[in-house]
Amino acid sequence: MILPHSGALKLSNGNCGKVYLTAAGPGDPDLITVKAVEALRCADVVLTDRLVSEVILHRYVSATAEIIYVGKECRKKISTPQTEINNLISKYALEGKTVVRLKGGDVSIFSNILDELQELVNNNIPYEIIPGVTSALGAAAYAGIPLTARGYSTAVRFLTYYKSDVVTECYWKELAKTSDTLVFYMSAATIADVIEKLTTYGIDANVQLAVVEQATTCFQKTYTCNIYEFTSKLKGRKFISPSLVIIGKVVALHEQFKWLTNESAGKQYFASVSGSKNIYELSNPVKNAI
Ligand code: SAH
Repeated sequence: MILPHSGALKLSNGNCGKVYLTAAGPGDPDLITVKAVEALRCADVVLTDRLVSEVILHRYVSATAEIIYVGKECRKKISTPQTEINNLISKYALEGKTVVRLKGGDVSIFSNILDELQELVNNNIPYEIIPGVTSALGAAAYAGIPLTARGYSTAVRFLTYYKSDVVTECYWKELAKTSDTLVFYMSAATIADVIEKLTTYGIDANVQLAVVEQATTCFQKTYTCNIYEFTSKLKGRKFISPSLVIIGKVVALHEQFKWLTNESAGKQYFASVSGSKNIYELSNPVKNAI
């Protein structure tokens, strides 16, 4: 018996279009879901983040659809203001178009999905949320680091530390003592501060850490060391964006279980927002999108 399929894509049947908040996965274009591909194939307009593989756009977006780049690049302080992204989403949907808002990794993890959901609800625009492989899971799998390997860790935490007040002192104290695996998003540039905090609160110096650059792409590179070696081995290194930091005993498994053989590092997989040839005029996206 074939069971009914709750996840089937339902297109809008009213005058208003529909918005698919869609995950693209972390980099490897084959990590996108079937459902996300279906949404992309139906889209009239695709509003895409920077950390989305160009291959996905080439493969699945119809030639008649409009692709709008609304990327953000915090390190370079370039970004499409969130209000302008919200305006674009609702403008196209209210014109009756099928809109895909495409985000790297998963749609909900460290993204501005809340603002976009609020915009959709405020305007009575129908939507679906299509989940995906978040970069922590992609990086861990492609680096051979099982995040909750039996005997090593019983939990994993997704964190970020891009500025000094996102983690309280009290929480640092707990993080330094936990045996949970810690994954830090948006923190490769602040990794020295992360290690300093954990050291201050007494993390075991033998705990290992990994920085996974451009995870799941053909340029993935993994750097590992233990807390004790951090200063001599990795401190001061500039990691290519995007990079992810994994801290915990499980990182020791990388040496034995790494399987990726194409670690040809050095090049940038995701185009810079400012360097993209399809660059979307950031100062006035609504006007330029018309
Ligand atoms: N929604 C995304 C996260 C967006 S925040 C997700 O689910 O993955 C952006 C941060 O995610 C980056 O600064 C980096 O820390 C991480 N990231 C995204 N893609 C990555 C990749 N391919 N490799 C390593 N880190 C990545």
